[in-house]
Amino acid sequence: MGNFFITIDQGTTSSRAILYDNRINKVDISQVELTQYYPKEGLVEHDLEEIWNSVVFCVRELIEKHSLKPEEIVSIGITNQRETVALWDKKTQKPLAKAIVWQDRRTAEFCKKLKEDGLEEVIKEKTGLLLDPYFSASKMKWLKDNLNLKNKSDYLFGTIDTFLIYKLSGGKNFFTDASNASRTSLFNIQNCKYDEDLLKIFDLEDIQLPEIKENADYFGETELFGGTIKICGVAGDQQAALIGQTCFESGSVKSTYGTGCFLMLNTGKNLVTSKNKLLTTIAYKLDGDITYALEGSIFVAGSSIQYLRDKLNFFNSAEESEKFALEADPSSQVFVVPAFTGLGAPHWKPEAKGAIFGLTLNSGINEISLATLESVAFQTKELLNAMQADGAKVNSIKIDGGMSNNAFFSQLLANTLKTEIYKPKDIETTALGATYLAAIGSGFAKQDDLKDFWNMDKKFLPENNLDQKFAAWQKYLKKLIQ
Ligand code: ADP
Repeated sequence: MGNFFITIDQGTTSSRAILYDNRINKVDISQVELTQYYPKEGLVEHDLEEIWNSVVFCVRELIEKHSLKPEEIVSIGITNQRETVALWDKKTQKPLAKAIVWQDRRTAEFCKKLKEDGLEEVIKEKTGLLLDPYFSASKMKWLKDNLNLKNKSDYLFGTIDTFLIYKLSGGKNFFTDASNASRTSLFNIQNCKYDEDLLKIFDLEDIQLPEIKENADYFGETELFGGTIKICGVAGDQQAALIGQTCFESGSVKSTYGTGCFLMLNTGKNLVTSKNKLLTTIAYKLDGDITYALEGSIFVAGSSIQYLRDKLNFFNSAEESEKFALEADPSSQVFVVPAFTGLGAPHWKPEAKGAIFGLTLNSGINEISLATLESVAFQTKELLNAMQADGAKVNSIKIDGGMSNNAFFSQLLANTLKTEIYKPKDIETTALGATYLAAIGSGFAKQDDLKDFWNMDKKFLPENNLDQKFAAWQKYLKKLIQ
């Protein structure tokens, strides 16, 4: 057996491959940024060829740089941006369209119509999700209609995990895993199967769907890197982060701050239905047992900082947001509602747009940077409030993702949420989780072995409270979506 793992982390803004040793310590990383296509307002696309080439490039770079032989690699893990839909030619494996990214709002009208037809309840009951363009099914329906797809044996639909497994296995394996499947709106979370009624609702009865595997499973092999390497662990990015944070106990919570923010509570064997517009989803399926999670999803977190950097040219790097926020006038009453791609939980307003409120002649880059970081903390507070109203008892939250490197933001989070915030040493928890799954799936480790793998870097304790500012922010938000 080999001594290394390689995990592919195909995210929204970049593709990465990470090399781990046999104690699942990070050895090296290769990363390529991805082009974001915004062809029209509300539309977000990725080029699937670019995704594929970036993934192959990253894996190859690690293998060459470390002179690895395929037999030295125990197995490959995969984690990916969820809900994003790929469509490709079954024979040639060539993409038939650009991928429709999870943030894309083009199916808002279609979802509204289904809602008017009274279908949200049945969808919610079966999938644990709400009716929103966020999820894959309405995106598949859009592609099927707009590309006029007729013969189902010619093309394949899948989420990004499925596209990568298909390509890596040379077109042999058309598989997905339970966590990614649970985000399509076609999957019944009670029995862990595709659901005929849902396929009918989304007019997708005539498409081929990938076989659903457990998260640590045999997903096939790739011959693309000079020999045979198995693929043994797959999970959607947020579920992978939950595993990477070793949130295996019912009641444990993690929050990831990448492009968006995703607060996830492990609810164990309990399928908790939210009364406060959170999502119920599959955390993972291992050894036949399904573990459920309650999730709050915010579409814009780190991408608001990216917006300040790239569109408003406030700074050259996301890290600088910390320095600017620290220099802001503490009495500033500037508020940002970063609804750039609509609002996710708990509002679910696909048509909402972003806004800055409370500008005075004293409001500059510093104050807007502070207000933007605060807006991410305030959005998290809304998620936590919803989770607590659904009965959760949350004493601490493990954070990760690019924004968790911002110590000012992490402290802001502890103050806003009045909850202890723990940051691990390795914040690449998404890739770490997929590697744990690959280790379990290849018989290298057991789930119980992983419990002690979590290492604390920093703890942030609540210091002062931001209740007044949060209340003012909520007032502005309500005004915006009235
Ligand atoms: P994803 O996996 O969604 O592509 P990452 O976890 O790599 O995202 O995080 C990148 C995001 O985090 C970017 O949107 C970036 O603007 C933001 N970010 C990264 N570092 C910082 C920082 N120090 N302060 C604030 N935001 C940051």
